[in-house]
Amino acid sequence: MNPKKILDGLYLVGSESLSGPGDCMIYALGIGKDHICLIDAGTQYAQQILDNITKTELKNRDISDLILTHCHFDHIGAAHQFQQLFPKIKTYAHSWDLAAITGQPNTQGLTAANWYGQELVPPKIDYVIKKDPEILNMEGTNLICYHTPGHTPGSIAVLYENEEGMKVLFGQDIHGPFMEEFNSNTDDWAKSMKRLINIGADILCEGHYGIFQGKENVKRFIEGQLRNNGY
Ligand SMILES: [Zn+2]
Repeated sequence: MNPKKILDGLYLVGSESLSGPGDCMIYALGIGKDHICLIDAGTQYAQQILDNITKTELKNRDISDLILTHCHFDHIGAAHQFQQLFPKIKTYAHSWDLAAITGQPNTQGLTAANWYGQELVPPKIDYVIKKDPEILNMEGTNLICYHTPGHTPGSIAVLYENEEGMKVLFGQDIHGPFMEEFNSNTDDWAKSMKRLINIGADILCEGHYGIFQGKENVKRFIEGQLRNNGY
């Protein structure tokens, strides 16, 4: 399978079928002239993701930034691989998921690494997201991070707006699941989702369910998830 173009400079470059079993959907966004910001890292297939990027207009660029949307292994497992491949990479995560991502004692259950029969090699976090929203400026590209607790306490959603005014929301695990072992909270999640609906995104890049195009489709998907969970 080939990477999927979403917009100029934005591609789906990883997933179960694109990079390897267990991977979430991984998105590559071109920033500046030479760099890429990656949204999530997947489980363990960094090299495959890089090979996929060479099939896109983003080839020959270095990955300079990596945003981890929450602490689950299918999103963060390969982060340490990208840090080895790109020593200057800057990795971002929310403060409320930091302990799990950085492998503090008694946090293994929070990462769901056991679901994948793996042990997390904790990545280094260079920038801890604490504000809400927090605006990350990457070479002139603004990415707005919203704190969207629910699936995990430190889940974030990331909004990117291109020059034509298209709003792309990286929502990742909007669909849950909600588990006690993740410290999930569905009331918090419902509030987070209503906030995301109000953004009025044109495109939603989800973590496992794919890409939803068009404001109405984005809204319908999130509202459907709310209904499925009794909200
Ligand atoms: Zn998750």
